[in-house]
Amino acid sequence: MAKVHLEDIKRKFNNVTAIEDISFEIPDGEFWVLVGPSGCGKSTILRTIAGLESATSGKLFIGDTLVNNVPARQRDVAMVFQNYALYPHMTVAQNIAFGLEMRKVDSKIIQERVANVARSLALEHLLDRKPKQLSGGQQQRVALGRAIAREPQVFLLDEPLSNLDAQLRDDTRAELKQLHQELGITTIYVTHDQVEAMTLADQIVVLNRGRIQQIGAPQSVYARPANQMVATFLGSPPMNILPAIYNDHTFDVSGQSLAIPAEMTQKVHLRQGYSFDLGIRPEHITINTDSELNEQNAAILSVDVKLVEPLGRETLIRAGLPGSTIVLNVQVGGNVHPHPGDRLYLQLDLNQLFVFD
Ligand code: ADP
Repeated sequence: MAKVHLEDIKRKFNNVTAIEDISFEIPDGEFWVLVGPSGCGKSTILRTIAGLESATSGKLFIGDTLVNNVPARQRDVAMVFQNYALYPHMTVAQNIAFGLEMRKVDSKIIQERVANVARSLALEHLLDRKPKQLSGGQQQRVALGRAIAREPQVFLLDEPLSNLDAQLRDDTRAELKQLHQELGITTIYVTHDQVEAMTLADQIVVLNRGRIQQIGAPQSVYARPANQMVATFLGSPPMNILPAIYNDHTFDVSGQSLAIPAEMTQKVHLRQGYSFDLGIRPEHITINTDSELNEQNAAILSVDVKLVEPLGRETLIRAGLPGSTIVLNVQVGGNVHPHPGDRLYLQLDLNQLFVFD
């Protein structure tokens, strides 16, 4: 096990800068997730740590060793990809043992390690099968097993669950977390899936366009996003973003006025006539159907229901304001049952509003 430290890493491909200003230090044994939309540079960072790419500039340390010029196979890291590429002619046991045999590890130790890995990943009954006799989820577990058996200092995972169907993905995700709790190997995990990032990570690194947007524990990044990209990327359904204008302690949202307490507007230093994006998460909106509320309460938006999407546990409502759409969620079993065309009165939790430039 080892810490991993990146210091101002940059990687250019010809004239295109894939990543820059990438600095973080992962303490020994932690599970970090690099998350962001496709093309934001996640894989380039991971491949640079693995030694499959070289940094254009910056320093990379594994443990206390500067490894910029250390070849991949001497870095003592194991990487698992989305396409798990097992050797088709070998059994599960041979696949798991392969990396150890290449390193000329003693055959008794190999046997022990294969048995231990098979136990941790529930592969014991499959050891004599060939990859094509396995389901996708089992194959991916073998790929993980092959990486774990090497007992690397660092474990690198690039979208390892994205080829699995939904149920299997959830199960394997939980297994991975369990496995990390047992083994405590420093792990860096790349995904574009914010649910995987939130559920697995000790710390999340949110990336966009090759740069770090925010680093933090999942809950704190969710609760205190550094910018609009982070705010809308984490959360399902995502944070609502409504164009707004500030004037005289009110936010004008699509022609409707929301009265804002003075202490709040002072906190964010708003100028008169300032145009901005107002952010509010669906869970911070209370839905009313009673029009009287509209007259009593100055912090109400009225909207018209456009679309109702039942999801089982909750129902998503897409409602319209002139020029924008707001997404609401309603827990099943509550007393609000909106239909397209209904008018709703939305009470926003003013302590949970975000102001983005
Ligand atoms: P992600 O993993 O977040 O989808 P990548 O790290 O694969 O993103 O890519 C980041 C950027 O670098 C993208 O714009 C991609 O097109 C570019 N890139 C990655 N690898 C290469 C390469 N070998 N040659 C040229 N451009 C590349």
